[in-house]
Amino acid sequence: MSERPYIVGNWKMHGSRAMLSEARAIDRAAERLMKVEVAIAPPFTLIHATRKEAALIGVGAQDCHAAEGGAHTGDISAAMLKDSGAGFVIVGHSERRADHGETDADVKAKAEAALAVGLSVIVCVGETEAERDAGKAAEVVSKQLEGSLPETEQAAEKVTVAYEPVWAIGTGRTPTLEDIGAMHQAIRLRLRGIYGEAADGVRILYGGSVKADNAAEILSIPEVGGALVGGASLTAESFVGIMTAAAERGEG
Ligand code: PEP
Repeated sequence: MSERPYIVGNWKMHGSRAMLSEARAIDRAAERLMKVEVAIAPPFTLIHATRKEAALIGVGAQDCHAAEGGAHTGDISAAMLKDSGAGFVIVGHSERRADHGETDADVKAKAEAALAVGLSVIVCVGETEAERDAGKAAEVVSKQLEGSLPETEQAAEKVTVAYEPVWAIGTGRTPTLEDIGAMHQAIRLRLRGIYGEAADGVRILYGGSVKADNAAEILSIPEVGGALVGGASLTAESFVGIMTAAAERGEG
């Protein structure tokens, strides 16, 4: 597993070409923060332009269709993403699971389609607040991992897991550091059950209200391999603050 923290910005349904200046600024900052691996997932419409503007950072997508092509109006295949310059795709984000009814099986099919064309994948899992309150967070996340992770050969080399408690996304609330560490340990154990020894190479990111002012403490948790960042990735100013905190951990 790369020891470099992996910091990924998810722009969600935000951004026009005017926002390419933010991508350029993030890319410039990445040049001096080489101890961090940085990527952004802009909306589909900006992938190609972002790839052209940003030389150093990874550029990816927020979703793909599981089919290779065909009569799926409005959808985008993994091969199309690759053709537009994407190197990875996020699958199973809780907003997709909620807004589009995506099941674990859908997420797995998307992940396998992405791997088949050579993209890396970030598979998102995370419990709702009600599930955490019911003491079921670990059980829910374990089931999501079992159902959502791709099982193709070599999958472990191209997969990153993002643990994103649904109740922490965009709310300004985060789990305690102990809870994040415990969940990441539980995820690692589950990954070993799925991928065997190769699981130790899979990075596990934390996502949910990561900001420049809490990034250092979250990234100091040994099991946390980086962060998936929504709101705070929309401006270079706030995202570079997180990248800088990650670089300091990379030096530690
Ligand atoms: C996300 O949507 O993946 C996310 C983590 O959002 P935010 O950082 O805004 O909580």
